[in-house]
Amino acid sequence: MKSKFLLFLFSFFLFNGCSTSDKSETLSPLPTTQTPAEKKLEKRNSEFTEEVISVTENVYTAVGYDVSNISMVLGQDGYILIDGGSNPRSAAKIKAEFAKITSLPLKAIIVTHGHGDHAKGVATYVDGQDVDIWAMQNFGHEGEFSAKAGVNFPQRPLRQAGFALPKQQRINNGVAPAMYMVKPVPAKENSKDKKEIKTVYTSNLKPNQLLNEPFKAINIAGIEIELYHAPGETDDQLFVWLPQEKVVFSGDNFYKSWPNLYAIRGTEYRDVYDWINSLSLMISKEANHLVGGHTRPVLGKEMVKEILTDYRDAIKFVFEKTVQGINQGMTPDELVDYVQLPEHFASKDYLHGYYGRVDWSVRQIFNGYMGWFDGNATNLIPLSSKEESHKMIALMGGDEKVKSEVINALNGSEFQWAAQLIDYLLIIMPENRAYKSLKANAMEGLGRNIDNAVARNYYLTVAQELRKQ
Ligand SMILES: [Zn+2]
Repeated sequence: MKSKFLLFLFSFFLFNGCSTSDKSETLSPLPTTQTPAEKKLEKRNSEFTEEVISVTENVYTAVGYDVSNISMVLGQDGYILIDGGSNPRSAAKIKAEFAKITSLPLKAIIVTHGHGDHAKGVATYVDGQDVDIWAMQNFGHEGEFSAKAGVNFPQRPLRQAGFALPKQQRINNGVAPAMYMVKPVPAKENSKDKKEIKTVYTSNLKPNQLLNEPFKAINIAGIEIELYHAPGETDDQLFVWLPQEKVVFSGDNFYKSWPNLYAIRGTEYRDVYDWINSLSLMISKEANHLVGGHTRPVLGKEMVKEILTDYRDAIKFVFEKTVQGINQGMTPDELVDYVQLPEHFASKDYLHGYYGRVDWSVRQIFNGYMGWFDGNATNLIPLSSKEESHKMIALMGGDEKVKSEVINALNGSEFQWAAQLIDYLLIIMPENRAYKSLKANAMEGLGRNIDNAVARNYYLTVAQELRKQ
């Protein structure tokens, strides 16, 4: 019943959206009632409720204050942090929470990898103190790989993150709360010295203790710490093992969601083969507790073993099945149908595609080994998209016929088909307002009915861009 009502609402707004008046063409077709996908994503917010979780007597993890988790480990005469979060404002809140637990000084920060959500808040914690920052030698590799070549198209990361969306359209990012970009604020509340503020936020951000070997044992403030190079989500990833506390900190090689083996914002190949091996190494520690880069920690030896093993085995299944299909000559489109996660994995919430997706992973594994050419000779030198569009529209009976079919598809909730059809018209007439409005409707239909947060953000942001242009 509910879905029929939603369909009615959608059709009602869509009808307005397709009338000839310019004003009504920009109307959003969004119904006010939540879709099942939105409800599922909203339920997910319980993974990011602000809380400092006591993992052991000496280990505390701040969840939900920042994009990533920040952990504090207490030693004899000081404490260390694992990861520094994304921004100074969240860092200041977490610092205040940690100060309620200990008055000992900060001795070191270990940064699990170079992504901004783990590294950009570091300076606020350091706050001018003489503190070592540990990381892998190739820290920041992913960013540097693109930067040195001048590759920079910020719209894609912005769409993935949903930063441009109004608050009511943001739910979360799948593995993190819906946060907005934060401008630097003074570390010292009373500071009026702009130079000093600038110094706080641009200095000490770079790690000064770089690990150039696969394993290193260190002791800081009496805490035994083992650092392991663990390529996976990034090549500069490390995981931290505390043998005394029996806690493993995985960085972003684990969080509760299907992993982001490929990021739709665009990245170099994330080596899935290495990722699987890094997870095996982590499993071999037989940890009592597991603190992921995002989402609430996994507490209890049996839970850690079950979840980490499932995680590794599910990725391994997808990887091996994809390779099997590649070896049979399958194209990426065929592989997406061929590689289906078995039910005993698909039914687990911690493997659900809130952030990454299995089909994107399959395409990326293909791309990592075979490159852009799908193997079908037809696609070696295809018609230009304009040539193809002209021919397809003519074949379908002209512009009006295609447009009315798009409207039929939207009314039937076939949003993907509507999007693929309207693209033929938009490729030839990219500035046509009615076509842009129809595509925006399709994007909104797709975005509101998917429980993958980054896809939702991307679809809804593109819809917003189409309505603004
Ligand atoms: Zn992260």
